Amino acid sequence: MSTGNSDIDESDDGEEGYDYYYNSNEDTEMEPNDPHAADPEYFEFMCLSKEDVERLFNECVENLCASLPIKPSLAKLLLHTHSWNTSEIITRYKEDASKLLIDSRIKASKPSEIDSQAIRSAKSLPCSICLLSFSGEHFRALTCGHWFCKECWATHFETQISQGITTSMECQDCNLLVPEDFVLNILNKSSLREKYQQFSFSDYVKSHPKLRFCPGTNCSTIIFAKECQSKRVICKFCKTIFCFKCGSDYHAPTDCETIKKWLTKCADDSETANYISAHTKDCPKCSICIEKNGGCNHMQCYSCKFDFCWMCLGDWNSHGSEYYECSRYKENPNIANESVHAQAREALKKYLFYFERWENHARSLRLEEETHQKIIDRINEKVMASEGTWIDWQYLRNAAALLAKCRYTLQLRIPYADYMYNGPLDQLFEYQQAQLEAEIENLSWKVERAESTDRGDLENQMDVAEKLRTTLLKDFLSV
Ligand SMILES: [Zn+2]
Ligand SMILES: [Zn+2]
Ligand SMILES: [Zn+2]
Ligand SMILES: [Zn+2]
Ligand SMILES: [Zn+2]
Ligand SMILES: [Zn+2]
Repeated sequence: MSTGNSDIDESDDGEEGYDYYYNSNEDTEMEPNDPHAADPEYFEFMCLSKEDVERLFNECVENLCASLPIKPSLAKLLLHTHSWNTSEIITRYKEDASKLLIDSRIKASKPSEIDSQAIRSAKSLPCSICLLSFSGEHFRALTCGHWFCKECWATHFETQISQGITTSMECQDCNLLVPEDFVLNILNKSSLREKYQQFSFSDYVKSHPKLRFCPGTNCSTIIFAKECQSKRVICKFCKTIFCFKCGSDYHAPTDCETIKKWLTKCADDSETANYISAHTKDCPKCSICIEKNGGCNHMQCYSCKFDFCWMCLGDWNSHGSEYYECSRYKENPNIANESVHAQAREALKKYLFYFERWENHARSLRLEEETHQKIIDRINEKVMASEGTWIDWQYLRNAAALLAKCRYTLQLRIPYADYMYNGPLDQLFEYQQAQLEAEIENLSWKVERAESTDRGDLENQMDVAEKLRTTLLKDFLSV
């Protein structure tokens, strides 16, 4: 077993400087006995291998067998159907063992009237499926007493496994679940046995609330966390970053349900939304066509030098204090009294307003990644020309890395804005988002002009942006 947390992993993937940035800025709010209290994104988890998890499952089975008089294969079935909640199983077993076993489809609700001893010792019996006759020991049945020949069972298992069904395999004549040992005693083909074990393992992991497969391509890591929360996990092996609760890309500060709805909506409405992702706009002052090729939304017209906002085309200088208005959709206050048609139009307008901002951040992220790369190249050149060392220029990389992190948080905040209602908490969120948005654009502006920006000024800007980001996440993640 190996532990993994965000701090270690960030330093692993070449972001040493970023880690250094955190460590060199002592946060005064930090509690001395809890170093992670200041980081709302901190989440405790472990990266496990398949073998680690198999060991964990076996321990659970052993524990349950030590408390209740049941076979390991049935214990595993019970654990799987009860989300691996040992104490709940024990309590329910003690209350009414028979009911628990019947409810869990392990025991038949009516005891079988067939004398199993008579079947086993019979010289020749016809199988009710294939109609061939065999001696008694060639027959198998679960506790329901539905006896079939081993070949018919094997065929049944093969069909089920080929459809990916393993842990939910039922008897051929009723809905009793087939335990692992029953299957493995009958299945001979090694390829099928392997498939069965592989699919069951995956089912067991999926039914365990504290385990999550890493969604990274070809990665077999399984993440273990004590609490099933919508928090950030970074796979130690493939570096994939995802939400522990839903397994999709990390999405704070928007909850799992909202991001899912939002992404589905974006995919459904992609054509409606396509026309707004324009890369050129006209300067609001001299009307010259301007192409946006940097991530920053603070634009300066190359012709008339007018400073304006890419999103709302307003004057940038009067913009700082009014950012709240730029990033927030102003709903028609009387919309509730309007026709259904007008309401639908308003909802679409609101969605397009936020979608345009969502797309714009995504594009900014890509463009800022290019800037990041350029900065690295420039640092290399400088170091080669003996203009300082890597450490001297590291702050520029840190700034670019921080910018990406802030931009991502801001982008992922947008779906939430589209769905939210206007409660008092939401107004606070909106205000915080607008503040962060303004500071991120300032940071982006400075990063794009990194070489001519004063180092102290840039570092102050980083500090301000990161503090706002942390506050926004803290309020969201601790709700
Ligand atoms: Zn048969
Ligand atoms: Zn049956
Ligand atoms: Zn992974
Ligand atoms: Zn999630
Ligand atoms: Zn202009
Ligand atoms: Zn604006």
